[in-house]
Parts: sequence; C-alpha cells; structure tokens
Amino acid sequence: MSTWNPWKGCHRKSEGCKHCYIFRANDRKKIDTNIVYKTDEFDKPLQKDKKGNYKIKPGQMVYLCFNADFLVEEADEWRNEIWEIIRIRTDLTFMFLTKRIERFYIGLPEDFKDNFDNLIVCCTIENQKRADERLPIFKALPIKHKMITIQPMLERIDISKYLDDDIEYVVVGGESGKDVRPLNYDWVLDIRQQCIDANVSFEFRQLGSIFIKDKKTYNVRKQYLCAQARKAGINYKKS
Ligand code: SF4
Repeated sequence: MSTWNPWKGCHRKSEGCKHCYIFRANDRKKIDTNIVYKTDEFDKPLQKDKKGNYKIKPGQMVYLCFNADFLVEEADEWRNEIWEIIRIRTDLTFMFLTKRIERFYIGLPEDFKDNFDNLIVCCTIENQKRADERLPIFKALPIKHKMITIQPMLERIDISKYLDDDIEYVVVGGESGKDVRPLNYDWVLDIRQQCIDANVSFEFRQLGSIFIKDKKTYNVRKQYLCAQARKAGINYKKS
C-alpha cells in the first residue's frame, strides 16, 4: 500500500465536507486548505532508486489524492500528466475518491475506456440528495472498477436502484471528531441489506464518533471507530 498526493488543498463541495479531516488538520496548523498546490511528489510513481527500480514496488495499491479531491478545479491543467503516469504504471492499482464525479470528463484521455484497468474510482455520497445527483452520472461513466463510499453517512439512504454488477463495492462509515453528526446503525444495516439484495460487496468501515444503536447514543473514541465496525461482523462479500 502506498499514498500519492500530487496536489494538496480542496474546497468544501457539499454537506459531507462540513467536518472534512483535511480542513481540520490544516486549521490546526493555520494552513489555508483552499489553496490548491502541486506537491514535490507529483510524479512519485515514476521516481526510481539508485539501482533504477521504481520506489513504489509493483503490485501495490496506491491511494491517490487522499489530501484533496482528484477532480478539484485547480488541478484540471495538471491531471493529464497524472493520467499518463497511471497509464505507465500498469503494475500498480490506483484508487481515488471524489465528490466531483460530474467533472470526470474534463481532461480525460480519449482512449480512457479502452485502458486504465488499473484504476478504481470511488464516488462519495452522504445523503439522498447527493446520491440521486451523483450516482446516475457515475453509473454512466466508462470506469472499469467502481465503488460507492457513503462516508460520512448523514441519513438513511436508498441506493438500491443504482446497485448492480457495475458497482464492485459499497463502503459505509460515520463522521469522526468533536461535535460531529451522528451515525445511526439502522441506516448502516439498511444499506447492507440493499447490497445483499443486489449481490454487491459491502463494508462497514467505521462507526461515527457519535453513534446510535438501539435508540441509545454512544460517544466513541477515535481509536475504536474502525475496530468496532469490524467487530460488528456485518461485511458482505459478493457471492
Ligand atoms: S471534497 Fe473531500 S477533500 Fe474536499 S473538502 Fe470535501 S471532504 Fe474534504
């Protein structure tokens, strides 16, 4: 597993961005997250060691743009170089998340649909409004590997009409930090059932720092958010 942040910075896009962890971390350091800039790891997957081998070894998953949105507006002029790097490193699998799936075609290579088998795109949604806005666009795109991330999940959401073989995974999680919006376990179980009915793999990634189960509200410490989700044992693997 490796990370690659060719740029940093973002702008709040929708309801799910309210407590964005990048803004929170940068605010603490008095960094303006709204300034989007290229980093010195812009071409990281092509960087080689003294022996001439790629520093990122073959076979790895590379998490792309986890300190930004891959499709953020300022990066439009830089993204074509990133597509070329992904094209060159077919020995790696790249994955990015976006709340801007409607911008996917901007600067997309013309031969995208015939290549880029090594890319997973996660469309992130947080409520019914964003599901109905983004998922029809996402479904129509010629992406080989598609995931839906519902994090932070802010309400009960029906995505059943978007679930079929086209979607490889659905990941659900709550919001972490102080004064966050609660995650209700019933909403999680509801999405899980939608995935089972459609035979789509499902993962409960993390609880919310405020978590409601059986009408009781819990304050969950950060270090337990993922462990407790795993412990729930409700993940589903497509048969
Ligand atoms: S789009 Fe993602 S990275 Fe950008 S502000 Fe929203 S949550 Fe943060």
